[in-house]
Amino acid sequence: MGGLRSVTMVEVSKFGSKIARTSGIGQLMDDLGSALAKGGDVIMLGGGNPAHIREVQRQCRQSLRRLLDNEADFASAVGDYDPPAGNREFIEAVCELLREEFGWDIGTENIALTNGSQSAFFILFNLFGGVFERGVKKKILLPLTPEYIGYSEVGLDDELFVAIRPGIQHLDDHIFKYNVDFDRIDIGEEIGAICVSRPTNPTGNVLTDSEIKQLDEMARLRDIPLIIDSAYGMPFPNIIFTQAKPVWNNNTVLCMSLSKLGLPAVRTGIVVADKEVINMMAQANAVMSLAPGGMGPAIATELVRSREILRLSRDVIKPFYQAKATAAVAQLTAQLDGLDFHIHKPEGAFFLWLWLEKLPITSAELYERLKARGVIVVPGHYFFPGLCEDWKHKDQCIRINYAQDDKIVKAGLSVIAEEIRRVYTRSK
Ligand code: PLP
Repeated sequence: MGGLRSVTMVEVSKFGSKIARTSGIGQLMDDLGSALAKGGDVIMLGGGNPAHIREVQRQCRQSLRRLLDNEADFASAVGDYDPPAGNREFIEAVCELLREEFGWDIGTENIALTNGSQSAFFILFNLFGGVFERGVKKKILLPLTPEYIGYSEVGLDDELFVAIRPGIQHLDDHIFKYNVDFDRIDIGEEIGAICVSRPTNPTGNVLTDSEIKQLDEMARLRDIPLIIDSAYGMPFPNIIFTQAKPVWNNNTVLCMSLSKLGLPAVRTGIVVADKEVINMMAQANAVMSLAPGGMGPAIATELVRSREILRLSRDVIKPFYQAKATAAVAQLTAQLDGLDFHIHKPEGAFFLWLWLEKLPITSAELYERLKARGVIVVPGHYFFPGLCEDWKHKDQCIRINYAQDDKIVKAGLSVIAEEIRRVYTRSK
């Protein structure tokens, strides 16, 4: 994968070799960049890029036009640094939305922005995990793996994560769902925080309300925060196809983002947490980047104030991805007919997680074979940060992004199904 520059020639610190050496997420973003640059040559079903949804783009263009037409607003949007917690007007609008829609008892002191939610995770995981005073080491518990590849390398300390193998529920011959296996979870002193993505990247799993309730209770009992990564979730872009309740209390750290709505380039993450955590986020922002960028807030403030962002999420974005999920499952199910395969029930986000239990090669080898045929997916083994135990399952899955245009996804899925059939048939 990828052609990232190596840093092995230059002597660097332990921090340098950790953060600047080739990582799964670095390779993934590199592949994504090259595929987008090459245009039509590569079918990119790999990265986490959202679709360019026409109606979303139209509204964003309208916001930008309004901004360009207002001299004072434009001057301030591009000409001023925001405070380290981020743009005040945007924070006020988000705060009001969360109070009114969900009844949460929060104020603006409970919200900070970051340059994409990815940098929020960098700060949070290193706040709650790593070496504490008196040399005590704490870890971040991921109670349900597979989990987001982007968490893997953010720890300044080695082995920052401890992950729990999930329960597997077969819903029918070809559809399954992961559950949190609470019997395997034992939270000791060494755990500094719990984190889940909901919906989960890579599987499209949405943790049930009861799983979230149980995790919340466990976290509060241990006096450690529960971090909920809502990059695809509530209140926006709300790419959730099941029933799920939004949850927040002052022990929850809720991470939201403008990216999956269709604005990954503006790099705007939103953290909702207890004010002490928010103060620390703001301080870290100041050190790392002075202030979060202001273009995301400039585009989105009015959308949030008017609640148009909720209408877009509910009436445009969610049905857009749900239709794609249904089509992708139907196509794969038809084209893999007669073979051994399992698809995780797509409950949200925009990925299909395909489990090929009897695959005679590893998913990394399958990735290479697909790449040679011009189709990029992500091999599953990257999505198990913190799960040290030997588990064949890690090498039996691939993640497929179905956000691209229907024609591209259809062509990509056909190649994937054909290649899987070849691999299975040749091994007989
Ligand atoms: N969390 C999850 C689960 C993701 O999939 C991503 C991006 O793909 C992020 C967080 C980070 O997104 P961003 O930094 O664009 O907000």
